[in-house]
Amino acid sequence: MPAEDRGLIFTAPLFHEKIWGGRRLADDFGYQIPDGPIGECWAISAHPAGDCVVLEGPLAGRRLSELWVEHHELFGRAKGDRFPLLVKILDAEEDLSIQVHPGDAYAAEHEGGSLGKCECWYVLHADPGASIVVGQRARNRDECAELISRGAWDRLLNVVDVHAGDFFQIDPGTVHAIRGGTMVLETQQSSDVTYRVYDYDRVQDDGSKRELHLQQSLDVIDYEAEPLSSGEVTASEVDGRTRLVSCPYYTVDRLRVDGHMTLESPQTFWCVSVVSGSGRVGERPLSRGEHFVVPAGHEELDLGGNMELIVSGVPAA
Ligand code: ZN
Repeated sequence: MPAEDRGLIFTAPLFHEKIWGGRRLADDFGYQIPDGPIGECWAISAHPAGDCVVLEGPLAGRRLSELWVEHHELFGRAKGDRFPLLVKILDAEEDLSIQVHPGDAYAAEHEGGSLGKCECWYVLHADPGASIVVGQRARNRDECAELISRGAWDRLLNVVDVHAGDFFQIDPGTVHAIRGGTMVLETQQSSDVTYRVYDYDRVQDDGSKRELHLQQSLDVIDYEAEPLSSGEVTASEVDGRTRLVSCPYYTVDRLRVDGHMTLESPQTFWCVSVVSGSGRVGERPLSRGEHFVVPAGHEELDLGGNMELIVSGVPAA
């Protein structure tokens, strides 16, 4: 596909019902969502469990996974056999299960070649007094197994207050849970592998409980990681831009557009989400809740208006 045809790739979000979900994706973001508790908006995804369709332009109607395979030039020298990122908005009205994700090596061996899952959260909304679980305090597998078997969750889990604008990197092996009253934009490896440690003994509509995965959890928990005490962003903002994280799987930046800003041409591609406010990219209006991919070779973006964007990318091979 010639570089001049590589327009922005706007994706159609997909919605997933979750027992912990709410209605804020409709009430706050204005999405048309199905009835029921909707926990997740998969905004930019090529995962088999939710493969986004392109909304407009010459690629309208194509799936992101097809573009990765058939038009890989759109993603430059991004490596891998599948689109590597998954961008979601989560609306937790109730607490999510206490969970942990494996890294790539464990997932490849035990989960049929799946990727591991490294994820991060930019907090969009938090009710007063809201908190989340990030990290755990057991120093080895035996201690962890013992605390779990006794249900000593207060001793095991590291609980942190959460506020809009906080950011949390959740490396594989970190026990975590988003709790009720919180909305986050999640950037993650394109993987669905979750080991559930505890689900508060909740029952689903059919009376069953969701499965737990204690052995796998104990296998993958990182017993050396120091639990953190805050998600406050301490990186400095330069010309409206703040680097929230850079890890082997992704970089995530926050852009605060107030008037005018440019975003450089991506080496691979950018995933862009408008998380508040409104404005424009070039001549095209942008509003809260829109998401797009900037393909490799796209010219520098001319952004205007008053809005906050979360921009993620991956390293070149
Ligand atoms: Zn997770």
